[in-house]
Amino acid sequence: MNPIAFERLTHYYGDTKALDSLTLDVPAACVFALLGRNGAGKTTAIKCLLGFLAPTRGTARILGHDAAALPPEARGRIGYVAEGQRLVPWMRVRELVAYQRASFPSFDGALCASHLKRLGLPEKRRVFQLSRGMRAQLALALALAQRPEVLVLDDPAMGLDAVVRREFLDVMIDLIADEGRTVLFSSHILTDVERVADRVAILDKGVLRVNAPLDEVKRRVRRYHAHFVGEAPEPPPLKGLLRAHRRRSELVLTVVDGEGSVEPLCRELGARAVEPEPLGLEDLFVDFTAERGGAA
Ligand code: ATP
Repeated sequence: MNPIAFERLTHYYGDTKALDSLTLDVPAACVFALLGRNGAGKTTAIKCLLGFLAPTRGTARILGHDAAALPPEARGRIGYVAEGQRLVPWMRVRELVAYQRASFPSFDGALCASHLKRLGLPEKRRVFQLSRGMRAQLALALALAQRPEVLVLDDPAMGLDAVVRREFLDVMIDLIADEGRTVLFSSHILTDVERVADRVAILDKGVLRVNAPLDEVKRRVRRYHAHFVGEAPEPPPLKGLLRAHRRRSELVLTVVDGEGSVEPLCRELGARAVEPEPLGLEDLFVDFTAERGGAA
């Protein structure tokens, strides 16, 4: 059984449809990245998954339970860190640690202490005296020390500097590799996603557009540069065309599964050369979700 499963999950805030029939499984021992532009529905999906929001229709299941009726025992096996997470501001770091230890039977005090030490988080300081990035680090350290079976992170890297982010990602990889845990995380830092994710899903205005292993997405989506003598023509009708634009004598086409079809079509239009370019996740994401992007 998959530790996380969304089935036809739809959520409205008043008249705003934030999620439109999301069906998605997150397999065990996977680092799964949930991507999408601002307002795409990522936080809404995560809130439904943790039972913080009741879906309008459909279900979200986590560790075999309907998220709408999550028993405390299951909640203890889930770690959660959200952007701008509110930690009790007047508590000292060490008091928060003690509080977490009392709340979660699986809490690993030694692990927490080692994270705090490595991150240089002063245990005597109160939460409101920490910087935004330090609060984010503290929230991560607490969640990791819980040794959760499923770790859900909503934009956890917000406010973290590059060094700490890199370290946090390494910890995340260790967690998965050594212990076979499952991580669902949303992020706008696509270079990070590219480093750690096994699978990616892209939400676009509440609709799931991509759900595949990262390697597969990168293999199937290519950008083609077709060079013409003189002005480039209008883009040809192409199956899988995500984005097309003309730059004087060059036609640039981003296409899903275009191998074998793009080059002959461009040659027919008079292209003198057609060069495929593999895309990094950031370019791929932009072409999938930019306003003019067509259906894949
Ligand atoms: P971001 O990357 O900016 O955090 P997101 O992908 O997490 O965005 P959501 O926060 O899930 O997006 O928002 C999805 C949609 O729901 C947006 O149109 C947003 O304006 C709307 N929305 C979110 N929360 C509320 C709310 N409490 N009341 C009304 N509309 C909301």
